[in-house]
Amino acid sequence: MSDERKNKSNKRSIAGALAAIYSVKRTEPWFGFVLLIVIYLVSTVFTVRTSVAEGVFEIGRAMIPKAALTGVISTISNMCLIILVVLYRDIGFCSAMGILATQVPFICVNIFILHSFTSIPGLFTNLLTMIACILIYTNQRKAIAYQQRIVEQAVTDVLTGLPNRFAGREYFSGLIKTGTKFVYVATDINNFKSINDTMGYEVGNKILIEIANRWRDLADSGRTGTYNLVAHVSGDEFGISIQEYRNEEDILKTIQAYKAELERKITIDDYDYYVTASFGYAEYPDDTTVLEDLIAKASLTLHDAKRKYSESVIVRYTDALLESEKTLKVERKIREALESDCVFFHLQPQYNINHKLRGFEALARMKDTDGSFISPMDFIPVAEETGLVDRVDMRVFHRAAKFLEDAVKKGRTDITISVNISVKHLLKNNFLEDIKSVLETYAISPSQLEIEITESVMVESVERAKAVIEEVKGLGIQVAIDDFGTGYSSLSYLHNFPANLLKIDKSFIDAMSEGKSSQKYVESIISIGHVLGLEVISEGVESEEQLEILKRIGCDLIQGYIWGRPLPPDEAEKLL
Ligand code: C2E
Ligand code: MG
Ligand code: MG
Repeated sequence: MSDERKNKSNKRSIAGALAAIYSVKRTEPWFGFVLLIVIYLVSTVFTVRTSVAEGVFEIGRAMIPKAALTGVISTISNMCLIILVVLYRDIGFCSAMGILATQVPFICVNIFILHSFTSIPGLFTNLLTMIACILIYTNQRKAIAYQQRIVEQAVTDVLTGLPNRFAGREYFSGLIKTGTKFVYVATDINNFKSINDTMGYEVGNKILIEIANRWRDLADSGRTGTYNLVAHVSGDEFGISIQEYRNEEDILKTIQAYKAELERKITIDDYDYYVTASFGYAEYPDDTTVLEDLIAKASLTLHDAKRKYSESVIVRYTDALLESEKTLKVERKIREALESDCVFFHLQPQYNINHKLRGFEALARMKDTDGSFISPMDFIPVAEETGLVDRVDMRVFHRAAKFLEDAVKKGRTDITISVNISVKHLLKNNFLEDIKSVLETYAISPSQLEIEITESVMVESVERAKAVIEEVKGLGIQVAIDDFGTGYSSLSYLHNFPANLLKIDKSFIDAMSEGKSSQKYVESIISIGHVLGLEVISEGVESEEQLEILKRIGCDLIQGYIWGRPLPPDEAEKLL
């Protein structure tokens, strides 16, 4: 840290930054100033001329002496000076008073030495304009000072005297507007609530004031080697900005300095307190270019750190953190949905190639608190990651089984209901118990049930998965290999796999329209499926063209928007 930088930092203080935020700025264009002066000068010349002019001029039938215009023109010139004071404040006032004052000696010479008594009204006008200017100017100053006091109060935190949340935001958005690189540090005092609860709010407030004073002094002293602004965001939350740092080390050193100041003993009413805090920070523009985002990311980092570490730490924001936070949010939503019975299902029809209904695939659906749907693509991976997927699977499984039971009662003993089962669930010890409980609860034949296992995940633990699937098959339930083609299935693995149905992934069906080689690929999958004794279904069939090709190359079953989208159970029932 060079001395020069230190000095620069010293000159800039939190109070200075606050003043810059609350200074009531108003800038009028300079050409207006010049224009007023020009009008003033021109009208003054005319005033002098008309005051000595002889003769008259006519308006209609009236004969008006030229000298009578003097008053009108001199009023215009004085108005120019008054407007100057109103619009240009200090500089306007000084200019107007300067102009008026310099005229006084000339007028006095005219009256008292040259005995030109026509100048007497001029002297009066001059003096009265001066008084008007002084009155306007002093009143304006009072109004501005009052205005500034109000703004100052609005941006200063009453308790600590630090810039408040609003001022902080104003300052940080100023930095963003000017493209100034800075770090935003979010922090709050650990266990502050318990201090408040046990020692009372008064002590809590005194501690906050002490912390604010220490941090203000530190920021103003320039000892951190960087330029900082500390804002009291709310309660025990503070926000610190760091500017003029060179590298990560400078940032960490700065935050360390705040941490050290905080951790020094605080004595209030003869009691000693030791407080700590964690710090989370994010950088503009590297982490984001939006202020709200920057603050949110720093706060997210702070709260994640508080959750993870028992000691107080300094943590930088990373994108991975955002991901884990998203996961956490979705996890919360899944839990809520499971609790409030908001996990339900839709049924997508599956047909044989002659458009005869084969059955339905049950697909999980979940509603957000605002009533919007969350896609299974978003919540199933999170459910798998967080161990909630078996609950989701079973919720859907039970409902699908109930649907099947109702269909069987109506005589539809020929349809199959498929449910998706996550491999994570399949590999759990209680999986078979779960399946058995469904078979025991509903009056259905296991042969009408099918479980779909995604190929790509299954290959990771193929042996164990195979053993479980054997048992499932032993119960009489059918098994489908879902999303076939997306994993690394080897022929030998397929050969040994106890499945009934191969589901070709939508991506291959989509690719078919691109060329013959993709069609050949799908054709080969179908042939292999048939050789291994499996039925083959194409997923995500959308167009007539795809359907025609699939018919030609011998696909057994079709599932896709072309013949049916996923439907709510009551609508699916109509297809029966
Ligand atoms: P999946 O098992 O491969 O299901 C087929 C997906 O393709 C469904 O998406 C379905 O709506 C969609 N689809 C079907 N036909 C078409 C079509 O013609 N065009 C297009 N664009 N899409 C079509 P969905 O419902 O969003 O489900 C996505 C995935 O989530 C499923 O893929 C499955 O892997 C998983 N999933 C759904 N429900 C469950 C469940 O209850 N448990 C588990 N473990 N996973 C589930
Ligand atoms: Mg599926
Ligand atoms: Mg699929």
